[in-house]
Amino acid sequence: MKITSVGEMIRKGIQKSKTLRESLLKAYWRDIVGNMEVKSEVIKIKEDQLFIKVEGSANLHFMKMKETTYLNNIEKLLNGKFIQKINFRLGKINLNNKIQKEFERMEEIEEITEIDYSNYSLEERIKMLEEMSKIREQYLLENGYKKCIQCGNLFLGKENKCPKCRGIKDRTVVNKY
Ligand SMILES: [Zn+2]
Repeated sequence: MKITSVGEMIRKGIQKSKTLRESLLKAYWRDIVGNMEVKSEVIKIKEDQLFIKVEGSANLHFMKMKETTYLNNIEKLLNGKFIQKINFRLGKINLNNKIQKEFERMEEIEEITEIDYSNYSLEERIKMLEEMSKIREQYLLENGYKKCIQCGNLFLGKENKCPKCRGIKDRTVVNKY
C-alpha cells in the first residue's frame, strides 16, 4: 500500500483547486494576519490577487503597510506563490457571522479534499478525515464553542452540557465524528 501523508494530499489539492486555496485562507486567516483577524475578512481570490474586507480606515492603513508580511505568510500556508497582491476594501465585519461562515469553510475543505482523493485507500481517507476533524474541533473550541460533558458534541454556549442534552432544540450543535 502506498502511504501518502495528509500534508501531501492537501498540497496537491491546493495546486488544483482555487476554492481550496480560498477555503484555507479563510479558515487559517488568523495565522496570516494575527490580531487583525477580527477586523478583516477574506472575500475571494481572483487570478493572483486576494481581495479582503477591512473594518475601519486606521485598520486598513495598518494592514496595507503589512501587505508584504501577509503575502509571505500566505506563501508559507499554501506552500507556493499563488498570491502576488492583496486588494483592501473598507467594510463592516460581523464577527458571529464570520465564525459561522468559517466553520462552513472547514466543512468545505473536508469535502473538497475527500472528493479530490476518493481514489485513495480507505485507511488513508480515514486518517485524513480524522486529521481534518481534529483541526476543525480545535478551531471551534478556540472560537467560543464548548464540548458537551455528556455526549461530546460541540456547541455554542457557557453551559457544561449541549442544548440537546439539556432537552433544548438548537441548531448550533455540531455532531461528533
Ligand atoms: Zn450533549
